[in-house]
Amino acid sequence: MRVIGLLGGMSWESTAEYYRIINQEVRRRIGGQHSARIVMYSVDFDDVAQLQHAGDWDGCTDLLADGARRLKAGGADFALLCTNTMHKVLPQAESDVDLPFVHIADATADAIRAAGQTRVALLGTRFTMEHDFYHARLADSGIETLIPGDADRETVHRVIYDELVRGVISGESRQEYVRIIRALTDRGAEGVVLGCTEIPLLVGPADCPVPLFDTTRIHAEAAVDRALA
Ligand code: GLU
Repeated sequence: MRVIGLLGGMSWESTAEYYRIINQEVRRRIGGQHSARIVMYSVDFDDVAQLQHAGDWDGCTDLLADGARRLKAGGADFALLCTNTMHKVLPQAESDVDLPFVHIADATADAIRAAGQTRVALLGTRFTMEHDFYHARLADSGIETLIPGDADRETVHRVIYDELVRGVISGESRQEYVRIIRALTDRGAEGVVLGCTEIPLLVGPADCPVPLFDTTRIHAEAAVDRALA
């Protein structure tokens, strides 16, 4: 079994889910007393959020490169960056560290294609919804993305940073997300990418009229595929 590196803490609320899902999945697949071989480096999310909101993406790159080096030194064979947003700068960060990463949008694109879909809504931070890095990666796989209007993007973004990364799960925010998802399915989305690793803590399949692509679970399962290949 290969050693999985988790570059986490973005936020730890979802990194804990990665740890749980990966171990549950290893147990489900090979049984007995087996569990995953994992090295984790978990950052202080306050550093990340401040760099992002200051637009200091070079600082974000340095922070990820430092984390990747620590994982490599800790014995990881490959790694996951446990957030969608920070994939914006993963290509730069991994370029001078000899550690392969499983890209979250590639794993998600595989899941969308396996479901036979080509037009999905994307919910995430403003950075993920508005910048090009995520749309372009899905478009490379022939997948079109729809995003909410400006006011709804603000709501989705605010709930992530003011609530979900702080461990706050609110029924009111869940209703807002469900309303936003319905508006996107009315516009023709065949499925919805939960493109922020904390959103699955707020909404699940029972809340939505179309299939959801839970990027935390998809990414974690892709790691298990690779660890056991
Ligand atoms: N975990 C979130 C994501 O998947 C947001 C936190 C971050 O900005 O990294 O994008």
